[in-house]
Amino acid sequence: MGRLISDTVEDYLKMIFDLSAETDRVSTGMIADALNVSPASVTDMIQRLATEDPPLLDYIKHQGVALTDEGIKIALEIIRHHRLIELFLHEVLGYSWDQVHAEADRLEHVISEDFEERVAAVLGDPLRGLHGKPIPTASLEMPDQNTSYLLDMRPEQHGVIHSVNDDDPDFLRYLEAQGLVPGAKFSIVDFSPYDNNLRLRLSGQDQEIVLGMGVTTQVQVEVLDFES
Ligand SMILES: [Zn+2]
Repeated sequence: MGRLISDTVEDYLKMIFDLSAETDRVSTGMIADALNVSPASVTDMIQRLATEDPPLLDYIKHQGVALTDEGIKIALEIIRHHRLIELFLHEVLGYSWDQVHAEADRLEHVISEDFEERVAAVLGDPLRGLHGKPIPTASLEMPDQNTSYLLDMRPEQHGVIHSVNDDDPDFLRYLEAQGLVPGAKFSIVDFSPYDNNLRLRLSGQDQEIVLGMGVTTQVQVEVLDFES
């Protein structure tokens, strides 16, 4: 990267990129919640990022922020680092899938482009990370994905788990214990409209699992046409 950017700035850009998947403009409140910092410090930071040369985001008061192309580039670079490092820690160093995120959160800011390339080469230029999320390409394109949240599935639909949110080690251990890992296929058995609980059966298993929104909002799936 051509200029010096702090870890904090990179974390902001990465978080705003993630939040932008859900909405065109990300509010300062959403950023403050996601990063667990005060709204006042978010406002300070986004004003700074909006006046960088070139600007890293576009800020409209009361409407929130959107990343500029330059901001998106930096976010994708960090996301690429993060997901390659996680996979490397798992595949090469033997870390379990709940141990890699905190390490990657630190290392993503410090590795060189040369290191990144070598890690990617050792792993065979992977397209997906350890928790199923796509890895931006070396030319910083985010691969397309056709996914929805488990939350939105309904009885008689079939799906395969695509990816899971990875920032809580306890949650990852819970998912693994239940067999809810990327690649696992399932059918929805029942849905209860008032609490949004889903009952599903994993393929090849007899027992059914009931999952609430604490889980179904954190798991992305591909809907399958047929049970397979
Ligand atoms: Zn992670």
